[in-house]
Amino acid sequence: MADKRDYYEVLGVSKDASEADIKRAYRKVAKKYHPDINPGDKNAEEKFKEAAEAYEVLSDSEKRARYDQFGHAAFEQGGPGAGGFGGFDFGGGDMGDIFGDIFGDFFGGGSRGGSARRNGPRQGANLRASVRITFDEAIRGVEKQLEIALKETCNTCGGNGCKPGTSPETCTKCNGTGQVVYTQQSMFGMVRNVQPCPDCNGSGQIIRNKCSDCGGTGYIKVRKKIKVPVPAGIDNGQSVRIREKGEPGINGGPRGDLLVNVNVSRHPKFQRQEYDIFSTEPITFAQAALGATIKIDTVDGPYEYTIKPGTQTDTRVRLKNKGVPSLRNKNLRGSHFVTFVVQVPVHMTEAQKEALRNFQQAMGETSPGTGSDKASEGNEKKGFFGKKKK
Ligand SMILES: [Zn+2]
Ligand SMILES: [Zn+2]
Repeated sequence: MADKRDYYEVLGVSKDASEADIKRAYRKVAKKYHPDINPGDKNAEEKFKEAAEAYEVLSDSEKRARYDQFGHAAFEQGGPGAGGFGGFDFGGGDMGDIFGDIFGDFFGGGSRGGSARRNGPRQGANLRASVRITFDEAIRGVEKQLEIALKETCNTCGGNGCKPGTSPETCTKCNGTGQVVYTQQSMFGMVRNVQPCPDCNGSGQIIRNKCSDCGGTGYIKVRKKIKVPVPAGIDNGQSVRIREKGEPGINGGPRGDLLVNVNVSRHPKFQRQEYDIFSTEPITFAQAALGATIKIDTVDGPYEYTIKPGTQTDTRVRLKNKGVPSLRNKNLRGSHFVTFVVQVPVHMTEAQKEALRNFQQAMGETSPGTGSDKASEGNEKKGFFGKKKK
């Protein structure tokens, strides 16, 4: 008892905390250390007990006043004003309330609300599949066909899972409610535990004579061909949702959806980033120096482009509206960025070499990198303006 922590400290509130503050603080601590969330964690269990004890005292104005005056000694055997308090009654009405609140938070509503929803129509689960398409198909859009096994209502039994001529019986364990309630004595009092009925798996019904076609499940698997319309502009990893081609709904609810993940193969020449396309185009030294009209590969086919005289290597140009179409509006397209790379000839004939030497002489160069000041200045200027134009 000597090393007991201060109750206010346990809950993390100040000495003048209001009743609401204390309740809020306790809920927070109790949630964090609740045994259901920390199974087998002794430390959490201790913390949880400690918080429950602190709350038991601080939530009661009379006990709290006594604790403020005498500290932990107020509740020790034979201590001042120990009165009728020997231990702690965790099964108290107020504690029940608070656990009700906590479980409500965890499970999204009280058990009664849950059961009502369990029997109502619910949408079936979503199914997942994937298709692979080419880079060009992603640009233009494509329709793919998938073959998947879909659950369909069994025609033999009409979906109730019973052998024709028989019908399901109400489960006697749960009286058709689909759930059973266990009341357990635990270290923090009586706990009401609602679980799906183990006899009927929560359906509330027992099938004695199973339909031989579906084995009592009410469903049969049918292989179906499904058209997957892949929209133009889709990117690798995005999905196409096909409504109501997932698992069957429950209690008359709609089917789930089929989510088709689209894998886009890489293109040997084009790279994509969002809605823009990037590529490089080789040009010859002569084309770069003198200018030329060349054909650039785009997703729309060859595109005629005129290179300006004096184009430097790694110059990038933008072809507007030659990129990927927008998923939302087919008429909006990204850009295609082309980087020109000047190729240096590797194998040259003697005549070609001679022409190049003449060229070199005409440029006033003697050896690499030591051209006349005038020439190099001119080159730099061209480079500068070329860059500035972009
Ligand atoms: Zn059947
Ligand atoms: Zn049952």
